Amino acid sequence: MTTPQVARGFSWQELPAGRVLVAEALLPYARHAFTTRGFGRRDVPDHDGFTGLAEFLELDAAAIRRVRQVHGREVVELRSGREDGTSQSADALVSFDASRAVAIAVADCVPILLADRRRRAVAAVHAGWRGTAARVVVAAVDVLARDGVPPSDLIAAIGPSIGSCCYQVDAPVRDALIAGAPTADDWLTPDGDGHWRLDLWSANRDQLLTAGLEAEAIHVARYCTADHLDDCYSYRREGAAAGRMFGAIRLRPNP
Ligand SMILES: [Zn+2]
Repeated sequence: MTTPQVARGFSWQELPAGRVLVAEALLPYARHAFTTRGFGRRDVPDHDGFTGLAEFLELDAAAIRRVRQVHGREVVELRSGREDGTSQSADALVSFDASRAVAIAVADCVPILLADRRRRAVAAVHAGWRGTAARVVVAAVDVLARDGVPPSDLIAAIGPSIGSCCYQVDAPVRDALIAGAPTADDWLTPDGDGHWRLDLWSANRDQLLTAGLEAEAIHVARYCTADHLDDCYSYRREGAAAGRMFGAIRLRPNP
C-alpha cells in the first residue's frame, strides 16, 4: 500500500479500521488521530468508524464526546465526572478528563488538535472559513488559559483539510475574514475578478501564534483533502453527500 506524502512531523498508521494520521509532537501527551476516508471496522458494526477509533484511543465509543457543529466559536469543556458549556452546539471541545476523548468531524474544514505539555488538558477544534473568521481556535486557547493552561504549554496539530491550492472564495468570505482580522489579506491570494484563494492553514497558524503558542509548537500536515480523494472526503469535490473524517484526541494521564 502506498503511503501518501505528508509534512514532516506527521506519520500514517495502519489500523484494523484503516489509516490514520498522527502528529509526532502530540504523541507523548495525547492519544489522537486524524481519520481517513472509509475509516471503520469491516468485521463489526461500526457507524462513523467510532468502534475502530475508540479501539485506537483505548476507550469505549460512548466515551468519545462530539458536539453538533455550527461553524461558530462556542467551546464545550469536559472535566472528570461533569461537563461545562451552555450548549450542545459548539465547534471546539476542551477536555481535562483522561477517561474521555473529544472529536470533531470534517470534510475540507480544518481539524485542529491541541495538547498541553504538562498533560492537564487537550482540545479538538473545527475551523472552516466561518469558524476561522470567528477565531474559534483562539476561543479554545482562551478557555484553556482561563483554566490554568498557558498557551506557551500548548502543542497544536493542523490536520488534513482543503489547501489554498483548491480553495477559491468570493468577496463575502473575504469580507467576513477581514471583519474578524484586519490582517486577513495575508491568507488570501487574488484569483481572478472578485475571487481569492484562501489559506486556512496559515490563518489558523497565525491565530494560534497570536493566541500565544510558540511557532515551533504548531505543526501543519499540509495535506489537501481535495487533492487526495483516494483517502480523504472533500465537501468541495463531492458536495453534501461527502462523508466525514474525525480529529480525535484523548489526554494521557500523568504517570
Ligand atoms: Zn489542493
